[in-house]
Amino acid sequence: MLEDFKDYTGVIHIHTVYSGDSSAELSDVINCAKKFNVDFVIITDHNSLGYKPFEGWHSNVLVLVGEEISPSEGNHYLALDIEELIEPSYNPQDFINKVLAQGGFGFIEHPFFYGNHHIHPFNIAPSPWTDWNVDGFTGLSIFNYTSDGGERMRLYSFPIFYAFPGLDKDRPNTNTVKKWDELTLTRKTVGIGTADAHLYKVRLLFFNAPAWPFVYYFNSIRTHILTRNLLSPDEVYSSLKEGHCYISHNYLGSPKGFLFWAEDRGSFYIMGDELSFREGIRLFVRSPISIKIRLIKNGTPILEKVGNFLEYYVESSGVYRVETEVYHRFFWKPWVFTNPIYIL
Ligand SMILES: [Zn+2]
Ligand SMILES: [Zn+2]
Repeated sequence: MLEDFKDYTGVIHIHTVYSGDSSAELSDVINCAKKFNVDFVIITDHNSLGYKPFEGWHSNVLVLVGEEISPSEGNHYLALDIEELIEPSYNPQDFINKVLAQGGFGFIEHPFFYGNHHIHPFNIAPSPWTDWNVDGFTGLSIFNYTSDGGERMRLYSFPIFYAFPGLDKDRPNTNTVKKWDELTLTRKTVGIGTADAHLYKVRLLFFNAPAWPFVYYFNSIRTHILTRNLLSPDEVYSSLKEGHCYISHNYLGSPKGFLFWAEDRGSFYIMGDELSFREGIRLFVRSPISIKIRLIKNGTPILEKVGNFLEYYVESSGVYRVETEVYHRFFWKPWVFTNPIYIL
């Protein structure tokens, strides 16, 4: 039954002191997660598994540790469910295979991030994905809070967004979403959302101030998993691998209770599932708040509606996913992105 699904919310892709470019310690991560009721966090330091020995429950927060395999030229890859450190290499297929050899899985990160030279003297170097002939990856991060926001940042806008997070219309890189749609037509490709949280400190007169409040990340881009079981490392990993998950911008409201599913003669299928096309399949969306719901088939929007419920009779096979927007401070802003239901 649908009511059996539990919705756990996680912050994925967090950098700590082991990254060399973040001053966050484990206690910072746990405190921020508690503050915003995050169920699980995944720390992924650059080429490090430093906090691996501390994996597990820290009061009511499940802490998991993966690695952001980070070659200097780009091709960043979030490797999850691995035990041994994997060195970056020039050919991304090498490290994708090494992750699989350990029984792990992974996600391509910020594939179209070409840096930002508009915020001199804080220029950010490009770090795109360069090789789309690879295979063996589970999916990609379709919404990376730091790189997708960072590429739009300008010096004049920085102080405003420092003081008022969420004032901007945070949105994913359109090339990434396009690529995701393209990939889902040829292979199951799971989309996740990532914070890419760093605690940067800058010297201000007599003390070190955070360049961006670290806690913001924990109320920004989340990945929610849907599972019938209680939260555990295995449940997080299997939900992410199956695509039983969706992405949300939590600053705009908690989506807990959101669901996109298909019904075929009494059987239920949720995001990430595959089923064969036949007459009579219906798709449903339900949301805890009223939103703009957009149904997308094979990368093209086919239906849009404002409300908290949508029902659609499927007329042909396709890859169906849902995007939603919330009305917030005079604008419709991207809120939830689901994984597709593959009706083949
Ligand atoms: Zn990265
Ligand atoms: Zn990162």
